[in-house]
Order: sequence, then structure tokens, then C-alpha cells
Amino acid sequence: MLSVDEALQQVLSRAKPKPPAACSIHDALGLVLGEEIRSDVDSPPHDKSLVDGYAVIAEDLALGQAELEVLEEITAGAVPTRTLGRGQTARIMTGAPVPSGADAVVMVEDSRPLAAGGALGRVRIATRRVVAGQNIMRRAASMAKGDVVLRAGRELRSVEIGVLAEVGRTQPRVVPRPTVAVLPTGNELVSPRQVPTPGQVRNSNGPMLLAAARSAGAEAVDLGIARDEPQQLRELIGRGLECDVLVISGGVSAGVLDLVPGVLEELRVERIFHKVSLKPGKPLWFGVSARGGDDTLVFGLPGNPVSSLVCFELFVRPAIGRLAARGDTSLVEVTADLAIDHSQRGDHPTYYPATLKTTLGRSLIEPLRWQGSGDLRSLVEANALACFPPGDRTYRSGETIRALQLQR
Ligand code: AMP
Ligand code: MG
Repeated sequence: MLSVDEALQQVLSRAKPKPPAACSIHDALGLVLGEEIRSDVDSPPHDKSLVDGYAVIAEDLALGQAELEVLEEITAGAVPTRTLGRGQTARIMTGAPVPSGADAVVMVEDSRPLAAGGALGRVRIATRRVVAGQNIMRRAASMAKGDVVLRAGRELRSVEIGVLAEVGRTQPRVVPRPTVAVLPTGNELVSPRQVPTPGQVRNSNGPMLLAAARSAGAEAVDLGIARDEPQQLRELIGRGLECDVLVISGGVSAGVLDLVPGVLEELRVERIFHKVSLKPGKPLWFGVSARGGDDTLVFGLPGNPVSSLVCFELFVRPAIGRLAARGDTSLVEVTADLAIDHSQRGDHPTYYPATLKTTLGRSLIEPLRWQGSGDLRSLVEANALACFPPGDRTYRSGETIRALQLQR
């Protein structure tokens, strides 16, 4: 049986980044840039004032004191019409272009308008030393026209979206969001809106896996619930094969109604592996379906909710990250000391829900009380999975073990 690492390698080797396509910056948050971006403007576009105050000739204020003639008032968005000479100034606002002749700006707090004289009167300035360039941001100091401001491969956060807007690139080429279809299967499943009758359970995996797919950066597609019935499975799986990824839950184990692997093979989905040495999640099925030039990655996750979620985190999340060209999005592995004794038994590596705390540089991990792969509720408190190798043994408090951090 494949190990978790071998299975993940198999999955990742089939997950190829999608080709870049144009996308509005309003929809591009979290996506990866697919092209180099150059500025089409100087920023700032002119020598600009960084404060509200008076544009001056620094030499006029060599002593810090002067009485100056005010030529005009320049607000942001306006263009200066006068050139300053000795003894002259212009009232100027933050962001406005500095008039020619001026080489510094004094803050308004250091000024006092005097009555009469000239169109805008006179002003008295009393300040500390004024140096040339003070409170001025030079044209193109941030970026010059033609500069490369963002490189291909960068993940777009709000700051990059702002830079794209600044250089007028409202439709950059990005690696598109992978589409992920989710199909829960099982005759016992009813909608979460319903009260289950005897024998029924609510479909918790559907909403959970749709949310997980979205949290991994995918566009999630809800296929509804499939009964354990070949015709309906064929039809809904067929629809899911139009997406980049199809995530099926349930029906992949050894029960008499576990029909999913058979239907997938009928639909010519190439099986890459079935079963991984892992608890919870051993029955995991993975295959690839050819769809024109593109492939659909197909995951059959075991139906028990914790198995489904653990398999999603270990295999589906990194695959979505790879399709989106986001590099390694696997869960982060850490080492931590056990906070309590823990008895572990079984033939497969176990990923056990746990709380991980780091205080004063020491990480402590505490396995939670957990009733197994059907006990989703206990996972609510977990922020990590404690990793125990196969075999029966009691681990002692203080022993160092491996753990995977769950995403927040
Ligand atoms: P299966 O993998 O189909 O054999 O299902 C294993 C267990 O998981 C059974 O107890 C199912 O009732 C349960 N299960 C399967 N699918 C879901 C689902 N979508 N939501 C909640 N529980 C499920
Ligand atoms: Mg089932």
C-alpha cells in the first residue's frame, strides 16, 4: 500500500498549473500573476507636496524666519500657473504639484497669514531649518514609466491589487481559480435542512468539502447528493468531470454499495491508486480523466467525515494549490512534545486530532478525546494532527512527535 508521501507525489505529479487568462482585478485576490507587469506612468507623476503648507525657496528661509508674498493656491488635482521668485511662496496642499522655482515645502502649522498685500496676501513663516527637497516627493521616486513593478508568479494580495490599479492594469493575466466539483454519495444522506428519519444522517461532508475547496482558493461547484445507484452516479460524476477537480465522498470502501470505483472505471477515469497507508482515510481513491487538453483530477474520499477532511487536507488542498500555481500549500509539519501520555495502536500511520500550543519557544501537543473517523465534532477543537507511526505503543508525556498544523 502506498505511503502518504508516495501518494502525495503521485497526486502532485498530475496537477499542472492552469494556463494564465485575463481576469478583472476585482476577482483576482489570492490568484497568481501570469505575466510581468510594467508601469505606464511615473509615480508620483510630478514633484509632489507631502504636506499641506507653503511651497518655498529654501534659501529664503535660511534663518527659519521670513515674510513671503503668496502667489496662488494649489490644490491636489490642480496645476501651478506661476513660477516662484525670491520672497515669494504658494499655498499648497498634500499631493499637489510643487510650482517651479520652489524647492521645499513648509508645513501650514509653521505659518501665520498676514492681512493685505498681493492677491492672496502675505504670510509669515517661522520654522526650524529648511533644507532643499524637504516635504517633496520627487517625480518617479516610487516607479518610473517602463519599470517592472510585479513579476509573474507573485500571489496577489491587496497590495498587489493596488499596484495593478496604479499602473492601469485592470485585466492582468492570472492563473485562474481551479474549479472543484463536490459530490457526496450515500442512500442514507439527507439535506442538512431536514430532520433525519431512522437510518438517515445529514450530509455534512457536502457543505464541509465545498467550504474546504473555497478556503483552498478554488471555485466550488455543488453537484448535490448522489444515491448509491449506478445510473445517477454516472450522470453526476460525468458532470463533475467537466471541472478541474472532482471530489467524491463515500462509496469507495469495500461495502456492497460502494459503487464509486466501478463507475469511475466505466467512465474511463484512469485509476492512479486506491488505498493509502493512513488512518483515518485508508480507502482513498485517486485517478485522472482526460478532458480535451486538460485533465480532471478525481478524488474518492472515504465517507466518514473526519476521513474526508483529513484526505482533503493531505491531498486535495495541495493539488488545488498546484493547479493555481501557488507552490507548496501542504500542511506545515512541525515537531512538538506530547503534553500527556497517549496510547496508539494500528497498522497504519495515524493522524490524530490534537491541540498544538507554542509557549516560550516550546511546542506542546495534546491529542484530543476522539471517537474515530465518524467523530467530526471533536475535530472542532483541533488545530493540528498528531502523527503516530504504525504499531501499538504508549507514548509518554514529553516525547517529541511530528504534527501537521491545520489551516486556521
Ligand atoms: P462510506 O464511505 O460511504 O462507506 O461511508 C462511511 C460513513 O460515513 C458512513 O457512516 C456514512 O453514513 C458516513 N457518510 C458518508 N457520506 C457522508 C456525508 N456526506 N455526510 C456525513 N456522513 C457521511
Ligand atoms: Mg456510502
